[in-house]
Amino acid sequence: MKTARSEQLVLCHDCRLLVRSRGDGSSACPRCGSPLHQRRPHSLARTWAFVIAAWVAMAPANLYPIMTVVYFGDGEPDTIASGVMRLAEEGMLPIAMLVFVASIAVPVLKLLGIMLLLLTIHFRWALNKMQCMILYRIIEVIGAWSMLDLFMISILVTLADLGAVAQVSAGPGASAFAMVVVLTMLAAISFDPRLIWDLQEEAHD
Ligand SMILES: [Zn+2]
Repeated sequence: MKTARSEQLVLCHDCRLLVRSRGDGSSACPRCGSPLHQRRPHSLARTWAFVIAAWVAMAPANLYPIMTVVYFGDGEPDTIASGVMRLAEEGMLPIAMLVFVASIAVPVLKLLGIMLLLLTIHFRWALNKMQCMILYRIIEVIGAWSMLDLFMISILVTLADLGAVAQVSAGPGASAFAMVVVLTMLAAISFDPRLIWDLQEEAHD
């Protein structure tokens, strides 16, 4: 298959100008002057670094209390898991499910998805490339929803701070959870999806 790479063409990452590469890998874009690369440099290493950091941040995010709701002077700090259980026990099943999906299922599935893409490229697994691409798109789309939980906490903290009646405060787990979200986003951004197709080109050579 004819690709820009096989024709020695490089797309500028910044201004999207298509440039004929001189093959030494050191050229700069003639229009905007930014460095030209065939693929995002060190895409795999960077993505791995962000994925591992996100898994590390996952521990405090789940072990430390994410928020404390004190209602009529009564309440204790809740971790994500105990918060979900409490919501379910108090009959708020839809909200419990929403919190579970937004703060446990989505981050874990997203990280596993990125790892599957990385491992596929690393070990040259013969996965269907179209399925890899669908997985990549799902990761991008659900990424937009991973802020939902923090958003909910911040709304609760602002709205429900009713002094003596009810007090809501964010715990240290919330900061760790924000780190998980940001690191996972950075991992998805550093991943160059063209690497998936490079495998297929190599297989045909
Ligand atoms: Zn440019």
